[in-house]
Amino acid sequence: MGTMPLESKPPSPYRTRFAPSPTGPLHFGSLVTAVGSFLRAQSMQGTWVIRIEDIDPPREVPGAAKAQIETLVGFGLRSQGPIVYQSHRREVHDQLIRQLVDGQQAYDCGCSAKEMPTSGIYPGTCRSGLPAGRSPRAVRLKTNAEVIEFQDAVQGTHRQVPSDQTGDFIIRRGDGLIAYQLAVVADDHWQAITEIVRGADLLSSVGRQQLVYRALDYPSPQYMHLPLVVDDSGRKLSKSDGADPVARLPKAQALRLALRSLGHEPPQGAVSLEAMWQWAFNHWHLDAIPRGPVAI
Ligand code: GLU
Repeated sequence: MGTMPLESKPPSPYRTRFAPSPTGPLHFGSLVTAVGSFLRAQSMQGTWVIRIEDIDPPREVPGAAKAQIETLVGFGLRSQGPIVYQSHRREVHDQLIRQLVDGQQAYDCGCSAKEMPTSGIYPGTCRSGLPAGRSPRAVRLKTNAEVIEFQDAVQGTHRQVPSDQTGDFIIRRGDGLIAYQLAVVADDHWQAITEIVRGADLLSSVGRQQLVYRALDYPSPQYMHLPLVVDDSGRKLSKSDGADPVARLPKAQALRLALRSLGHEPPQGAVSLEAMWQWAFNHWHLDAIPRGPVAI
């Protein structure tokens, strides 16, 4: 290896985020994602920040964001930078949507949910202008038949074709709220997130989000999707589950279980939360993380 030429930039510092929606208490599945993203950031000498995705008031539970943050702090998971509330970014989201509509990458759609075909793939009814008698409701981003290929640090190589998954998809909803697919890209870029670490339930969104990155001319982050935690019957853990380990177990034990869900086996026995973290810092390795759902 020769010396680094003077003009080459050092690699951008690693930054990831944990981005819960404030729809209830922090449940075990979210703890696993928080722990996995935090350990990944630590192992990369990077930064881990919390972002509250409060862009859907009808689904928001009052006090949930505060309670989630307190639960995280109780586990020793503190945001290493200001906590961003997505609702504060509304003006920027609106401005980006206007930019996409002006650039003809997105368009007003007058269709109602009832008019969607059962395939769930938007047929493009309003793509070349609102049909007569329709008024604008949602805004959709245009898709094309392109194959999006990406490498995921845990899930390997994936290919997605958003035009076959959903067709042109919503970036502002009919009720005027900003859609997740737009807000998440806008804010991950603004926060200089270099790798998105989150649950595998969002793996299928990567193709659509890549189209938003391209439309906005933003560079793509890296991806790492952690295994989903499911119950005995294979269902994703629900936020209202009273048997949730976060509520039921002492913190060190809940952290042990989270580490096990991530394929790591801390030694048995009563250890403190600090000792459990120390073990995790020393033993964290990507190869241990399972791809598929893990049952608890
Ligand atoms: N807010 C989403 C959730 O709670 C996570 C979004 C993301 O990490 O991209 O499931």
